[in-house]
Amino acid sequence: MMNIVLFGPPGSGKGTQATYIVNSKKLTHISTGDIFRKNISQNTKLGQLASDFMNKGQLVPDQLTIDLLETEIDTYKNSNGFIFDGFPRTTTQAEAFNNLMVSKNMNLSMALFLEVCEDTLVQRLLNRGMESGRSDDQDESVIRNRIQVYEQQTSVLKDYYAKQLMDSFYIINGEADVKDISKKILSIVSNYKIFY
Ligand code: AMP
Repeated sequence: MMNIVLFGPPGSGKGTQATYIVNSKKLTHISTGDIFRKNISQNTKLGQLASDFMNKGQLVPDQLTIDLLETEIDTYKNSNGFIFDGFPRTTTQAEAFNNLMVSKNMNLSMALFLEVCEDTLVQRLLNRGMESGRSDDQDESVIRNRIQVYEQQTSVLKDYYAKQLMDSFYIINGEADVKDISKKILSIVSNYKIFY
């Protein structure tokens, strides 16, 4: 089983790259952002709880997100492995995630970090907002807030995973051509050896 954490600031290309990996390696893609958006569109209780935070560009509270992630993992019990896209986003989530992995007899194989500068992120998100209609991508102040939240709460995970995973933590230049990034990621993933 191969389990990959894919993280980086909003607009760094996590969703796009996750799709390439999933198609090539037949893993299960778990995007907490996608799950929240689906719940909002279906007007579920979870969607109602999450939408205020998302509209302001804030993080949904940790416990809600951790519970959601556990339910999602349990839904795909027979999976070959997972790509976690946009989770964890805080140290609390990362710690809960480690405990969850132990309790489910799973291992984190690697973490991939996509690095992109702020100006590029803002431009990409505004473009995506125009194309997709996604509401939190349409307002520049919400976008800047998401990037700030990322800097304050998520960027610490770089050090966290560099220490925890050592050789299995990778920093990838997310400003390169999208196909070149995916080639690089696929070569990293393909070279990963699973030890039993
Ligand atoms: P994303 O689609 O990954 O850009 O996430 C969109 C929004 O969903 C974020 O701005 C947060 O409000 C919320 N969200 C997604 N994943 C998480 C997470 N792991 N923890 C807290 N909030 C999250």
